[in-house]
Amino acid sequence: MKCKQLLVKGKAKSVYSTDVKDTLIIEFRDDITAFDGGKKDILSNKGNYNAEVSAFFFQYLGRNGVRTHFSTMLDPHHMVVRKLEMIPLEVIVRNIAAGSLVRNYPFREGTLLDPPLIVIDYKDDTRHDPMLNDEIIIALKLATPAELKKIKKMALEVNRLLGALLAAQGITLVDFKIEFGRRGKMVYLGDEISMDSMRLWDKTTGESLDKDVYRFEKGDVMAIYQKVAERITAPIKDLI
Ligand code: 5GP
Repeated sequence: MKCKQLLVKGKAKSVYSTDVKDTLIIEFRDDITAFDGGKKDILSNKGNYNAEVSAFFFQYLGRNGVRTHFSTMLDPHHMVVRKLEMIPLEVIVRNIAAGSLVRNYPFREGTLLDPPLIVIDYKDDTRHDPMLNDEIIIALKLATPAELKKIKKMALEVNRLLGALLAAQGITLVDFKIEFGRRGKMVYLGDEISMDSMRLWDKTTGESLDKDVYRFEKGDVMAIYQKVAERITAPIKDLI
């Protein structure tokens, strides 16, 4: 299978059509950006680490009953996926108060959120991804009420599954962002789940193991991405 036509070039990934019906290839590039693209760099191998972790999570979630777009890896930075009609929502699940939740609301960083919070943003860089509510989502016809209900249920299930997997590795899943797409009446998990889209803290030291290292210059981001990718994917390698 080969990349045919570039369909979308995002900040860190490119999406290509292929010669196979309903099948796309996502290229995980080495670009890293933060603050709406205000800070950007190219870091060698970053795409591979994110692709490896995303593929690992999609396979794990798929085995546990979550419908995802993942098909297979072509090489370490090209993922073959099922084509979806993407829903322009950034669905964020938060287990611990951090990031914009702490900046925008009077939560103290590190506060446990039980039950977890689901926050949904409108995926639109030109508007800086404003937060939505159910009424706005329905009024804008971004998703139907049934899809929204399914999306929230799936987001909580992904949180439960990833939280358990990461906890077993000594990693706290603070929060993460996922995106969904539809095929007919079915909702699928799409996009990626990687260190770029999660907030992960070492359970023992509290050290950041995600893009916050890049955002806030907390250390050698590539050394941390490499270490965390090895840590996250280690069990499956042992199991196979
Ligand atoms: P926050 O709203 O605190 O900045 O982000 C919450 C979580 O969602 C973090 O794990 C963050 O990485 C992820 N997130 C929020 N917006 C985006 C986005 O536009 N792109 C990516 N990749 N992740 C996001």
